[in-house]
Amino acid sequence: MNSYSPNMLKTFSDCPYKFYLKYVRKISIPQQASYFEKGKKIHAIANYYLRGDDISKIIKGLDEDELIIWNKLFNNEFFKMSYVKSEYNLSCRVGDFWVGGRLDALMRHNDDYYILDYKTGSIPKNPEMDFQTMVYLICADKKLNKYNSLKFIYIDLKNNKNFIIELTQELKQKYERILEDICKYITFTEEYPQNSEKCNFCEYSKVCKC
Ligand code: SF4
Repeated sequence: MNSYSPNMLKTFSDCPYKFYLKYVRKISIPQQASYFEKGKKIHAIANYYLRGDDISKIIKGLDEDELIIWNKLFNNEFFKMSYVKSEYNLSCRVGDFWVGGRLDALMRHNDDYYILDYKTGSIPKNPEMDFQTMVYLICADKKLNKYNSLKFIYIDLKNNKNFIIELTQELKQKYERILEDICKYITFTEEYPQNSEKCNFCEYSKVCKC
């Protein structure tokens, strides 16, 4: 049975040909390590901290910029809530397909649950309809079973802001329909058209004859 991550769904929706190169032909294009380094470091520290590890030595090794970002996350109201899980692999069925990925953190306050996603870069342009939002909210909803409220929190560390999406019955139905439709389409399609509108900054431009 096919299983799809938010990245796979986003890639297909942005450019089916990129999906073909990356996930069907399995061509991997190395990207500049420095581009992701800061985000990776902050995610790792957050995970160690939430698990209860001593992070004092790691904090001392941060540069000024990284320390500012870490302090923003550390003081974030949602990051201070009760810890449930971090770097949490979660998957669920939608129709005949599986979707899933790894959450940055799941927190709670009484019976209210919060999926946290820390962004050192920018948050999605349309957060409510981003595949990451849809997949994680639907998977957490199925996993938790009983809760008072379930929210997805994008923590924008660049601008020190939170973007909050609460899962409602209406959103849940909408997300399940969208996810099932795109999973079905990806599974059965034999066509992978190029989307030239997404070529700027595409790491596949060197191998793509567009
Ligand atoms: S360069 Fe453009 S057409 Fe080619 S894979 Fe990337 S986004 Fe798609």
